[in-house]
Amino acid sequence: MFEPRKTRQVLVGRPPGPSVPVGGDAPMPVQSMTTTKTADVEGTLAQIYGLAAAGCDIVRCTCNEEAAAEGLAQIVPRSPVPIIADIHFQYRLALAAMEAGVQALRLNPGNIRKAEHIKQVAREAKDRGLPIRIGVNAGSLDPDIAAQYGGATPEALVASAERELAYFREVDFEDVKISVKASNVATMIDAYRLLADTVDHPLHLGVTEAGPPPAGLVKSPAGIATLLAEGIGDTIRYSLTADPVEEARSGRSLLESLGLRERKGLDLIACPSCGRAEVDVIKVANDAQAALGDRQIPLQVAVMGCVVNGPGEAREADLGIAAGRGRGHLFVKGQVVRVVPEGEMVEALVAEAERIMEEGIDAVLASADAGAEAAAAADRAELLAEQGSDVNHAGTKIDRIRGIATPETH
Ligand code: SF4
Repeated sequence: MFEPRKTRQVLVGRPPGPSVPVGGDAPMPVQSMTTTKTADVEGTLAQIYGLAAAGCDIVRCTCNEEAAAEGLAQIVPRSPVPIIADIHFQYRLALAAMEAGVQALRLNPGNIRKAEHIKQVAREAKDRGLPIRIGVNAGSLDPDIAAQYGGATPEALVASAERELAYFREVDFEDVKISVKASNVATMIDAYRLLADTVDHPLHLGVTEAGPPPAGLVKSPAGIATLLAEGIGDTIRYSLTADPVEEARSGRSLLESLGLRERKGLDLIACPSCGRAEVDVIKVANDAQAALGDRQIPLQVAVMGCVVNGPGEAREADLGIAAGRGRGHLFVKGQVVRVVPEGEMVEALVAEAERIMEEGIDAVLASADAGAEAAAAADRAELLAEQGSDVNHAGTKIDRIRGIATPETH
């Protein structure tokens, strides 16, 4: 393997929220994209949690309409990983997504072409401290550039990225990652090599429209691994026309096989702890990590701040604990199997993990406490009645989004 190319670092998300550095000497993050409608808040969050449990570090959601931006205002405070809004055509939706609280944007320079609009988005991102990915795509290259270069050649893809970067520099904005994706693997490899010689920004690697397995399974590693072996690349998306969880697993496994990420035993995920949290999630997550970390338990374990949404959001995890009303709800694959006093949550989590390792998930589900689900439902209903449905004040953001995201024709 070649030495990794030296790049500047950008930070996607700010502590204490979910935060992932990209570039520099940071571990290489895996990215993926939801396939749900972003306006479907619960469905999108369930997919985000599934992706996080599969080893995905950053998730992108489309922001293609005002309802999607409004959905993001509700999704972001409850997501365990930073959210990037994917923007095509309407710069106003980029402004709306930032208002919704996303941790970064992806702009397609082939689809938003007015310099003034691009600069307005960059200015706003700079004021808010958010990075932007310039996401050039061979399939939607600016027609001017395609004509100048005789098609979507590697040089044309890089020229598109450079033009966008020049607009950003005019407003003194350089907090940027770049991708130059193509479905043709040879074009993609040459474009990234050229880009790596031209800029020191972190590069997001991907082969676009890779298609379903088996060809899709081969194209991404052919392109991504070739570049990684040359030291090029700071984050990856392993595109597959399949369940995005498969993408995340494949991406993670590719990085592990190249020695760029550590193999995981215990996979502990925790919610970011929004306005609904009934417990100090960071402390419980740290206690759970300390109690389970050395036990070589290859389970996905979720620590969730509330019983209202916790078991549902983390239903892809093998095991989890959600806090509420002085009690902990222990759940297995989203089903509440036991309700325990708050002070015993971590102990109960360890005991249940050991039972799963000895007896298997089905046996643990079959011996769930009678009445655990009913007790959980009662706690959930009481908390909802007390807290109301808008604990994260998404309604205020949504009102502002409605003022920003007036639909435009393009
Ligand atoms: Fe989700 Fe509840 Fe955690 Fe908020 S406190 S992020 S709603 S699990």
